[in-house]
Amino acid sequence: MGLVVQKYGGSSVADAEGIKRVARRIVDTKKNGHRVVVVVSAMGDTTDELIDLAEQVSPIPAGREFDMLLTAGERISMALLAMAIKNLGHEAQSFTGSQAGVITDSVHNKARIIDVTPGRIRTALDEGNIAIVAGFQGVSQDKKDITTLGRGGSDTTAVALAAALDAEVCEIYTDVDGVFTADPRVVKKARKMDWIAFEDMLELASSGSKVLLHRCVEYARRYNIPIHVRSSFSGLPGTWVSNERPQGLAPQVALRLAPHIASQGDRPVEQAIISGVSHDTSEAKITVVGVPDKPGEAATIFRAIADAEINIDMIVQNVSAAATALTDISFTLPKSEGHKAMEALTRAQAVIGFDSLRYDDQIAKISLVGAGMKTNPGVTATFFEALSNAGVNIELISTSEIRISVVTRADDVNPAVQAVHSAFGLDSDTDEAVVYGGTGR
Ligand code: ASP
Ligand code: MG
Repeated sequence: MGLVVQKYGGSSVADAEGIKRVARRIVDTKKNGHRVVVVVSAMGDTTDELIDLAEQVSPIPAGREFDMLLTAGERISMALLAMAIKNLGHEAQSFTGSQAGVITDSVHNKARIIDVTPGRIRTALDEGNIAIVAGFQGVSQDKKDITTLGRGGSDTTAVALAAALDAEVCEIYTDVDGVFTADPRVVKKARKMDWIAFEDMLELASSGSKVLLHRCVEYARRYNIPIHVRSSFSGLPGTWVSNERPQGLAPQVALRLAPHIASQGDRPVEQAIISGVSHDTSEAKITVVGVPDKPGEAATIFRAIADAEINIDMIVQNVSAAATALTDISFTLPKSEGHKAMEALTRAQAVIGFDSLRYDDQIAKISLVGAGMKTNPGVTATFFEALSNAGVNIELISTSEIRISVVTRADDVNPAVQAVHSAFGLDSDTDEAVVYGGTGR
């Protein structure tokens, strides 16, 4: 049988018991005849605790030493896991990212993988070992410094190793049973999907779903590595994320749409129109007030933002008031970049010639995702009706072919997600969404 890469998140290895439980699962996979490579995250909230510590000794911890510190978390769990496996009578060896051949660029704290040369992992496997690899870390190609891939980066490590080793599947073990139609921490009646296409998963990830990171899914799609997201606590089959629905999965029966919309189209019922509802409370909104309504203004504003290396998300420009020929431009961006963006715009105020800036970090983004929505005209109306019935005010709107997103007040996020989830007939009959562990931190 083939090679399997398994990744275990921090909540699965939060304590000694967790590590022993995971070790048993890994050994079972080996006993079933697979070659097993395991990628592991830091135990529980270790990474957050290390960050807190760093902030206590220096207000702006960043760069080389920060990466040195954070990678220690994964070294602890990888060694303990290897010991626990040996205790079960099987051979295991642990490897840092660098030893496993994860080569990155030299951008500390958010390095990108540029090559994977897993020679030592292959040798370890050939010698009959289970290979345990520290997630979320690598070594920079030029300076040979230790780097990290950004928060949650262990998933990317797992997919990258799966691609380099030509694995059959990359199994991502987490604290929920798979990918749900909404965050099970918010919607108790969220439904587990048995399969979701890369395309929809990418859209869910980029609109705030935390179960898989965008970069990890992007990598998996590029190398066509099927991902199986599942719980290390329950052992139930989880959600497959791949190009095509795997053979052997029962065909999707329910049309995931409220009956009054379903009757509007003649779409075959085997295809779900909506994949899910995601939300994101990590963004802030900046409004540039009183921008002269003439060519080049938006270009100057967003050049200033781009030069500060800030990624923005949604943009809205108001119709200018005829009397003043001034307009407002609003955009959203990660809260963590808010300060930098305000500074960059303030510096450019004289050149751009706007009146003032407004900063608002009490916002939430709610998105509806589904490849089927592009051919279903009722979707947008139902989405807005659901929000309106829940008394939720909409501040910004943006759409793509397979997504509608709105910005609302942060306080409205839970009722808004729940209302949209119900309106599209996504609620399950039971409260099946179990959260087994983790703080969601
Ligand atoms: N331990 C790192 C984090 O908490 C990496 C990961 O969990 O994937 O972000
Ligand atoms: Mg973690």
